[in-house]
Amino acid sequence: MSMFKDIPVDVGVIYEGERIRFGDMQVELGGPREQYKFELVRVFPLEEVEDSKVTVIGPDIKDLKEKSNSPFGLLIKVAGKELEKDLEAVVERRIHEYINFIEGFMHLNQRYDIQLRLTKKSFQRGFNSFTFLAKVLERLYKSELPIVEKIEFVFMTEGEKVKEMFGEAMKIWQERDARARGLSDEEVDVFYGCTLCQSFAPTHICVITPNRYANCGAISWFDGRATARVDPKGPVFTVPKGECIDPVKGEYEGVNQMIREKSLGEIQRVCLYTAFSYPHTSCGCFEGCAFYIPEVDGFGLVDRNFRGETVNGLNFTTISDATAGGRQIDGFHGVSIEYMRSKKFLQADGGWSRVVWLPKSVKERVKDFIPTELVDKVATEEEVKNLDELRTFLTDKKHPVVETWKAQEVVAKAERPAAEPSMEIPLEGVPMAGLPAGLNVRIILKGAKISVKKLIIKPEKEK
Ligand code: SF4
Repeated sequence: MSMFKDIPVDVGVIYEGERIRFGDMQVELGGPREQYKFELVRVFPLEEVEDSKVTVIGPDIKDLKEKSNSPFGLLIKVAGKELEKDLEAVVERRIHEYINFIEGFMHLNQRYDIQLRLTKKSFQRGFNSFTFLAKVLERLYKSELPIVEKIEFVFMTEGEKVKEMFGEAMKIWQERDARARGLSDEEVDVFYGCTLCQSFAPTHICVITPNRYANCGAISWFDGRATARVDPKGPVFTVPKGECIDPVKGEYEGVNQMIREKSLGEIQRVCLYTAFSYPHTSCGCFEGCAFYIPEVDGFGLVDRNFRGETVNGLNFTTISDATAGGRQIDGFHGVSIEYMRSKKFLQADGGWSRVVWLPKSVKERVKDFIPTELVDKVATEEEVKNLDELRTFLTDKKHPVVETWKAQEVVAKAERPAAEPSMEIPLEGVPMAGLPAGLNVRIILKGAKISVKKLIIKPEKEK
């Protein structure tokens, strides 16, 4: 592209979706090892933005140690006669797309979850300063979104500065999300679709409705409307709802039609408010996951920033791998934090009365939206460490899922023959994909009447 002749590496859509492994990386900005990282766009009056200005607070790329990771903040100030505050989220979400156009630069996630990596190869070819990043972003913004007339950049790698601005950014996002509440799916004729993440998950399309915030937590229904208006040929588009097929599960004829077209027939139906039976697909940059815990017939929730093991022994990365990729996996569901605040959150599965565990930090963020009588009945990592403790906790607290256990026992007893047959399948020494060699696994089936859609085999814990 001629507009990028002065950039030392190539820039183009062919680099979207490029994954950069640790071994190939020069430096990582943000990412899971850094507590403080963010990217934020703010709209200012024209006279308050100095066009093309780049400020770097802290070491520039060339001064960061090879293979190191750094705290990272990016504040972009934009101005334009037609730019309104409502468009901040629209401009902000494009950072992900545009940075991924740069050869040897990877950008994941959004807002406070970002992870950026630069390859050694691109660094050695001369991409060694944030000024190059600013030049690419400026040119793409001005050509793709002409309402951006002036743009200014502040890059931060100094830990204290990033931390300070991180707090301010969180307040700004909270205010932005709160503005989008109050409208319900029934009150609108159209939803919005987003295909921005198809470069990473080709069959994934987000359906953004007033009651179902985008999985990444960065685009509300209002943001979708604003984006589709200013950039009608872009990745965010209008979806006429069409006839409502199921108001509880949230299935709409217009949504199904759009999903079939945009996933090239791979996905046929989507129900918006459930994690089972045609759930909404998940790309990979969701803020969190809802995961079904069959042992207690409830859901756990986990977000990207949760470091340890969840209550069923799996960490976020493992749960996220089972969820992502644009697939529909029953019981594994990508969600945003804001969707947890929605009155239609997992509505068809019981909503909050089916949630049994979540990280304390997430609980703090959504506490005001959990029905009051349930707040103390949902466990966190501080109260329970494993499924046995969870069962005891839920029983003691009289969590609503406990009633479902009783109902299931009644059914099971009624159906159980006098002498319960059981079958044990010894698998000691049998090599199994994904499990370390030599690990002993045993499957025991008792009084089973089983219809299996998915079988999860977990290693036996050392006694
Ligand atoms: S998660 Fe969804 S809404 Fe967010 S950028 Fe990706 S496709 Fe768009």
